[in-house]
Amino acid sequence: MKSNQVCILVVDDNEMNRDLITRRLQRQGYETMAAENGRVAINLLKSNCFDLILLDIMMPVMNGYEVLEVVKKHPKWQYIPVIVISAADDMRSVVKGIELGAEDYLPKPFNPMLLKARIRASLEKKRLFDREQARMEEFATMQTIDAQLNATLDAKRAMEITLEWAMSYSKAEAGILGEIVDGQTNVLAAQGYSYETAIDNNQFLLPDELPAVKQACQTEEMAYVPETNGAGLLARAQSQLAIPIKREQQIMAMLLLESSTAKQWEHETMAFLQRLCTHAAIAIANGKLYEVVESANNAKTEFVSFVSHELKTPMTTIQGYTDLLISGSFGDVNETQHSFLSTLRANVKRMKRLVSDLEDVSRIEAGHLELKTDLVSLQELIDEVMHSTMTQIDAKEQTLKLDIPTDLPLVKGDRTRLVQIFTNLVSNAYKYTPQNGKITISANETFELNGDEETAMVHVSVADTGLGIRKEDQTGIFDKFFRASDELAKKSPGTGLGLNITKNLVEMHNGRIWFESEFRKGTIFHVMIPAVLDLEEVNIITEIETLF
Ligand code: ADP
Repeated sequence: MKSNQVCILVVDDNEMNRDLITRRLQRQGYETMAAENGRVAINLLKSNCFDLILLDIMMPVMNGYEVLEVVKKHPKWQYIPVIVISAADDMRSVVKGIELGAEDYLPKPFNPMLLKARIRASLEKKRLFDREQARMEEFATMQTIDAQLNATLDAKRAMEITLEWAMSYSKAEAGILGEIVDGQTNVLAAQGYSYETAIDNNQFLLPDELPAVKQACQTEEMAYVPETNGAGLLARAQSQLAIPIKREQQIMAMLLLESSTAKQWEHETMAFLQRLCTHAAIAIANGKLYEVVESANNAKTEFVSFVSHELKTPMTTIQGYTDLLISGSFGDVNETQHSFLSTLRANVKRMKRLVSDLEDVSRIEAGHLELKTDLVSLQELIDEVMHSTMTQIDAKEQTLKLDIPTDLPLVKGDRTRLVQIFTNLVSNAYKYTPQNGKITISANETFELNGDEETAMVHVSVADTGLGIRKEDQTGIFDKFFRASDELAKKSPGTGLGLNITKNLVEMHNGRIWFESEFRKGTIFHVMIPAVLDLEEVNIITEIETLF
């Protein structure tokens, strides 16, 4: 049977009728098969594909109704149109046949014109139905492909996914997908080639003298060579298909499919592959864009880390000499000189903080910031933070209240980084609170539901009666370099890095941070860090960790 020829199954126990119909249908260009009863018809259905069944009702062994029941319940056969054949005066059979799912009926004796018209109409309906079905199937397949492509930001992975789908849909024996760099195809995904040709992690170039590739490069369109006569990467290649993957008129990549069968692909398959490549183009372009962004980001991180390192040494020298001069060890310093030197020292201190913040941000972004964990008492730690910030709080005549229970559980964390977290929050509290304001640091033990389990946490809050943060500024508060639009807040020097680093550090401790704020009333920052209740368990874990 030719693959694209319509095939009709004629089921009739009357040999003369069968022959008459089959000969007539063959003359009209249809392929036919005949069965003398229902059982034979079912057997033929099992091993052949039919586009239409002409079905007599009254037959021995298995009658037409029984055949209809089987056909209309079968997942593969239910969409084959059935035309029942009945005696012209037997309307009851026709009605029953239609009730059982037959599409149409033909009265006996046959009227050739009616036979021709009804068959054509049924086949047209079936063709439209098949087309719709194929479209829906393709739509579902494309959705799956898109979901897979959208899940990656890696151009190479997007190419592998595309090639896998192209191969399975086209039944190609081998295929390659490569990116076009400086006019050459750099292969990033390959399937079905022998070991010598396979990429095996080493990129290689796709020779552009292959007939389909050459043609696709010249025309910038899909090129199909149905008979290559052995010219191909695949041994004994016969069919070759090359599809350029384009984005904004530019060829980014080339898909090559090969088969050892000549004239392997039909129009529908190629149309699908073309659509697949259009979808893939977006994912590949996104992947490439991401590569560029990532490498720019890495370059920026490297630059920041280099500059901050280089700035540290001269700043330490400036600070050292300023301290020496202020101390008077190298001669008396008059009041004006003292004031200049103090400004110099204050500014160097600020610069050092900025540089160290920049260094932290770049380390966090590069994933190079490591915690040196220990068991830490937050009660002691907050006391330390309070003492180191007391001078500034006193300078603004603010009051600081501590509300921390003595039996607060320990936490496991990096002492220096925990000091940094709370120093940042307390220094923001006094920076953004006017003279005579009030700062309260509270802590308590609490429990959080984690799935089914309760986790003990230490909850610390830093509250102030300061400027507060406008609603519209609140969403960006933890972003890098964010400073609120409030003119009063902007009067205090700052870089907008503190809260970003603080949030990252809290999260690295498996904790979380959030805040509540009312403009011109005050702000409360909350931090939760997992508590350590079972010291024995911690000791065991720490011992295991040190072993590795
Ligand atoms: P910096 O203080 O260096 O500007 P931060 O990241 O610590 O950077 O804070 C970001 C912004 O959030 C600040 O510029 C300020 O506008 C606002 N902010 C932070 N803490 C408070 C606070 N306690 N009260 C009011 N505004 C605050």
